[in-house]
Amino acid sequence: MTGQLDGRVAVITGGASGIGAATAVAFARAGARVVIGDYAPDGHDAASVLSVIADEGGEAFAVGVDVRDPAQVDALVAAACERFGRVDIALANAAIARRVPAAELDDDAWRDLLDVDLGGVWRLFRAALPGMREAGWGRLLVTASTVGNLEAWPEHAHYSAAKAAVVGLVRTLAAELGPDGITVNAIAPGIIRTPQTLDGVNSLGADGVARTGHTQPIRRVGEPADIAAGFRYLAGEDAGFVTGHLLVIDGGRSLAH
Ligand code: NAD
Repeated sequence: MTGQLDGRVAVITGGASGIGAATAVAFARAGARVVIGDYAPDGHDAASVLSVIADEGGEAFAVGVDVRDPAQVDALVAAACERFGRVDIALANAAIARRVPAAELDDDAWRDLLDVDLGGVWRLFRAALPGMREAGWGRLLVTASTVGNLEAWPEHAHYSAAKAAVVGLVRTLAAELGPDGITVNAIAPGIIRTPQTLDGVNSLGADGVARTGHTQPIRRVGEPADIAAGFRYLAGEDAGFVTGHLLVIDGGRSLAH
């Protein structure tokens, strides 16, 4: 496994499933050593991702982490540093989506979701920052969404607010940390075929996914690998002059809506 990310160490939250899992494999194929942090409340398991990486000769391990807990996120970064020496790339990807009509969105539901989808992002970035500043090189990456930035998702006001907020975080950190050699970027996926989209609380189901794909300029929904390819680019040397950017990977969906 050699390529754009040779010698780099990447930490990925939510890396046991969907987009995070595909990105873990893509990073390893590009030469990075990978540490997956995942809570896996839905029974997702990092074992299959780890075995794909190991079978291809890559190096990776997983740590059980709830991104709502600062101590656990600090421990994730510490585990990566202990085993692989440092963290060069931090991808804050873990998130939950919950359908709640606005009229029923109480403080608990609001706080619970923002704690994962926004707080979890900042906790990972904060934990990874000191090492990156010391090294004078770093990549802070986050999985945002077209939702909240380019299109609306009714009955997901808290999710939309969190996904818009991470873009604000990215832009400010990019300006602040550029002089330290750290770039900060986000990807806005459209509809991607992951367990959450197919089976989760917000499930479209296989038929819904196919129908949705057919309404987009590129006549399919996205695959996790489509997003992983974007993160692999943003994490590598080729993207050294790209910062504060929201890379939209949605098959043209947001243009058509
Ligand atoms: P997924 O459910 O397949 O994966 C999410 C992972 O995050 C799971 O493994 C889960 O265990 C983990 N996770 C959830 N809460 C956690 C917590 N508190 N601590 C640690 N880990 C936790 O979902 P996915 O579709 O691959 O989503 C990945 C990212 O992409 C999310 O940020 C999501 O909002 C975003 N996104 C997805 C789509 C889509 O269509 N699938 C579209 C736009 C954005």
